Amino acid sequence: MKKEDLVRGFDTCAIHARQAHDPATGAVITPIYATSTYAQEAPGIHKGFDYGRSHNPTRFAFEGAIAALEGGAGGFAFASGMAAEAAVLELLEPGSHIVTTKDVYGGTHRLFERVRRHSAKLSVTYTDLCDPAALGAVIKPETRMIWVESPSNPLLRIVDLAAIADQAKKRNILTVVDNTFASPWVQKPLDLGMDIVVHSATKYIGGHSDVVGGVAVAARQELADKIGYIQNAVGSIAGPFDSFLMHRGLKTLGVRMQRHCENAMKLAAWLESRPEVGRVFYPGLASHPQHALAKKQMRHFGGMISIELKGSRKAAEAMLKKCKLFTLAISLGGIESLIEYPAAMSHAVVPAAAQKEMGMDEGLVRLSVGIEDVHDLQADLEQALKI
Ligand code: PLP
Repeated sequence: MKKEDLVRGFDTCAIHARQAHDPATGAVITPIYATSTYAQEAPGIHKGFDYGRSHNPTRFAFEGAIAALEGGAGGFAFASGMAAEAAVLELLEPGSHIVTTKDVYGGTHRLFERVRRHSAKLSVTYTDLCDPAALGAVIKPETRMIWVESPSNPLLRIVDLAAIADQAKKRNILTVVDNTFASPWVQKPLDLGMDIVVHSATKYIGGHSDVVGGVAVAARQELADKIGYIQNAVGSIAGPFDSFLMHRGLKTLGVRMQRHCENAMKLAAWLESRPEVGRVFYPGLASHPQHALAKKQMRHFGGMISIELKGSRKAAEAMLKKCKLFTLAISLGGIESLIEYPAAMSHAVVPAAAQKEMGMDEGLVRLSVGIEDVHDLQADLEQALKI
C-alpha cells in the first residue's frame, strides 16, 4: 500500500497530502527556503527551480496542501487575500460583467468599484444571491463571473452553492467562492461544483493572527494553469516566511475549527436567550432563515456570530468598551476571540446607505469566537452586556 492511499481524512490530508520530506536533508517539515535564485549546472539546466518568484519549495508545499484540502487541481499562495482576488479577476477580459452578493466583503467591493471598474472596465451587479432564482434576472450577455461569499459578512447569510454552480455551468460562467469565513473544514465549494475558491489566509488558515496572506484554488487543471501563469506574471506571490506560517497554521486547521465551531454554537444559543440582544445571526441556530441549507452544505457552522443589540449604537459601544477577553479589533479567524463594530470598522468603506440596504443595524456587533474555554468567553460577554 502506498502512503497516498492512506491519506483520506481531513486532518491526515492537512498534514500529509501532496507533501514530501525535504529532499536535501530529510527535514520532516519543509524548511523556509529564503533564496531569490538557484544555481544552474549549465544555462537552462537546473533542478526545476530557477527564480524565487516562480519557484519556491516552501510556497509549493503550502500550495499543495491547500489545494488538497479544498479538493482542487492547483493552489496558489499570494501576499494577501486581496492579492489572490486581484489575480483571479485577471482571468476576465476587459468589459466583463460580474454578479455578486449585496453584502460582499468591503475590500472586494472597493477592488471591483474603485480599481477594476476603470482599469479593466469591469461592471458589477450586487444582488441577493440567497435566492438563486433571482440570478436569471441579472445575468447579461457579458456576464463572465459569479462571485459568492457564504456565510457572508457580517450578517452570515447563506448562498446555495450547488444551485448557483448549476445555473452558472449552463451559461458557461465562472464561479468563485470567497471561503474565508468557512474554511475548507466547514465547507468545500469545489465539491459543490464551484470553479475557484479564494481565501484571506490571514484568517482561519493562518489561524494565529500573525500573518497576512491569501490563496486561490482552482477546481480544474486548465484553470489552475491560467491562475499559476497570472501569479508568476503579476508577481504578488506569498514569500517563503509567510508561506511557512500559513502552512504551519493549515496543519492544525481541523482541530482549531472544531473548537471554534463548538464555542460559537454554545455562545450563539446563549446570546439568543439574553434580554439585551435583539437578534443573533448564526447559521447553526434554528432561528437562522437558512438553517436547513446551512446544514446541507456545511459540516459545521463556523466561528463567526453577529448580534443586534436592543440598545443600538450606544449599547454596542458600551459593550465593546467592557469586553476583556474579546479584543476590540478588526480581522477574524485567529485562536483568540475578537469583537468589532462593522459599521465603523470592517465595513467602514461601505457607504452608510449601502450598509442600511444590506440590513446592517446600528446595534450590530460581530464576534470572531476563538478557541479559549467557552465558559470564560461567556463570562466575559455576560459582564460586558450588563447595563
Ligand atoms: N475576504 C474576506 C471575506 C475578508 O474578510 C478579507 C479580509 O478581511 C479579505 C477577503 C481580504 O483579505 P486580506 O486582508 O488578507 O487581504
